[in-house]
Amino acid sequence: MLGIGAQAGFAKDSPARTTGESSDNYQEPAKKLPVRKFDVVTAGAGTAGVVAALAAARQGAKTALIEAKGYPGGTVVEGGTALHSFYNLWKAFPGVKKRQVVRGIPQEIIDRLAKVGGTSGHAEMAKGYDFDSVCTAIDTEIYKLVTFEMLEEAGVFICVNTLLTGAIMEGARLRGVIAESRSGREAFYAKSFVDCTAYGDLSAYAGAKYSEPNDYAVANSTGIANVSVEKYHEFLKSHDALTQYAQGLRDGKDGQIVRLDGTSVTLPSQFREQANNIGMSMVTTTVHDNYFMFIKLNLKMPVSPTNRDEVAKAELELRRRQVKAIELFRKYVPGCEKAFIARTSPQLCIRRGRLITCDYDITLSDVLEGRHFDDDVVAYGFHDSAPRLQIKNGGTYGIPYRALRVAGIDNLLAAGMMITSNHDAHMSTRNTVSCMGQGQAAGTAAALCAGKNCGTRELPYASLRKALENGSVYFES
Ligand SMILES: Cc1cc2nc3c(=O)[nH]c(=O)nc-3n(C[C@H](O)[C@H](O)[C@H](O)COP(=O)(O)OP(=O)(O)OC[C@H]3O[C@@H](n4cnc5c(N)ncnc54)[C@H](O)[C@@H]3O)c2cc1C
Repeated sequence: MLGIGAQAGFAKDSPARTTGESSDNYQEPAKKLPVRKFDVVTAGAGTAGVVAALAAARQGAKTALIEAKGYPGGTVVEGGTALHSFYNLWKAFPGVKKRQVVRGIPQEIIDRLAKVGGTSGHAEMAKGYDFDSVCTAIDTEIYKLVTFEMLEEAGVFICVNTLLTGAIMEGARLRGVIAESRSGREAFYAKSFVDCTAYGDLSAYAGAKYSEPNDYAVANSTGIANVSVEKYHEFLKSHDALTQYAQGLRDGKDGQIVRLDGTSVTLPSQFREQANNIGMSMVTTTVHDNYFMFIKLNLKMPVSPTNRDEVAKAELELRRRQVKAIELFRKYVPGCEKAFIARTSPQLCIRRGRLITCDYDITLSDVLEGRHFDDDVVAYGFHDSAPRLQIKNGGTYGIPYRALRVAGIDNLLAAGMMITSNHDAHMSTRNTVSCMGQGQAAGTAAALCAGKNCGTRELPYASLRKALENGSVYFES
């Protein structure tokens, strides 16, 4: 959901400043690096990467996970609203059976969150179910801790605050990666690798083909505290603006509002115009009485978010917009008079950075027709543009194993937002629960390849399928 004002640009041009550029070059001296050796290295401990590393380690692979930030989670704890979606969209299709189509490790994370009050549970939508049938909201901070602990329990070597900066190639085979932290610059050798960096950094360093479509707005979603969820609900209802509503677990009590969305069309014109100017979306979820977990502020950058200097401008602009969003809530929404920013992302969030070329590119027709493949590794049934774009009859489509194999590289898999070129197909495959499912598939496959000492293309599908089934992954047939 891009929300209203998704295309809103910068408020004003920044004045000229010194960039320090020159025509000089510096020749970096060669240096011997210490080497660590693993079966599987996963790059990026985000939505897909956490699950990939867990899956690999549980197959018995000696697994390392390299993450630039100080915690796992990635965009699932920084970008969104609810985790879309563990279920098919049965509610919009009378007669279609409700079924949970993503299970396995992603569900285990939800179970662990539930034990410590970190999720709304799979709350059925009471309004807006033509878009989504369930709302699975999370406490972003608890998610970071719970997944960190799960990784530790699985025996993953977790390198947080560690930036992956290079790839060591032997022909078409990835020998290792280079990573940097305050403990120094190191090489990590492994037999198989999984790129879950969202930006496709590892694939790009390894020389994979990629493009940068820049087809989405970027955002810094904000957690807003000191609000009244009930009064926000009343505000939307009283303006005939309520479009989404779900009740679930909140602060230990069931039957509480956990998700709201509204159309700005019927809201006071000043609120609407200002919200539009800052790219603010009305949708939010919560698992706490006085908190909006995500208020999204969207901004369309003129160039790809891999451009550091344009990103710097966007980071500043988004933080200005956060303050304006708070002012809007304080001024117009009853119960939010003393709202304040309780959480921001450490950096802007992207819906797409690099698009990595894989052996298969999932098409829009694959998604809409609910196509399955002879090498399915995930079944998925949500589309972010529903009800405009919808999987046939509220069913699912398959993500094939070949869609995760990075083209031209023997032992590298990709999982997460970096696959699927077609924008409308990507509006399905990029969602959190799809990324998590892809992570389990890629991590499992990487571990099996390492165990068999084979490349990703030599792995027999039957053994992958069996391992995924043993890992409680759901298959349609
Ligand atoms: C604003 C916004 C709102 C969204 N709303 C929703 C929603 O409501 N529901 C939904 O289901 N989906 C939503 N999405 C989509 C979804 O959240 C993402 O597509 C998904 O989480 C991406 O997962 P990922 O694993 O590909 O990447 P991420 O979760 O971003 O993980 C990538 C990880 O790699 C790390 N990393 C990157 N480069 C390096 C490097 N060089 N070295 C080391 N570490 C590195 C990052 O720090 C990060 O932790 C939203 C996305 C955005 C941006």
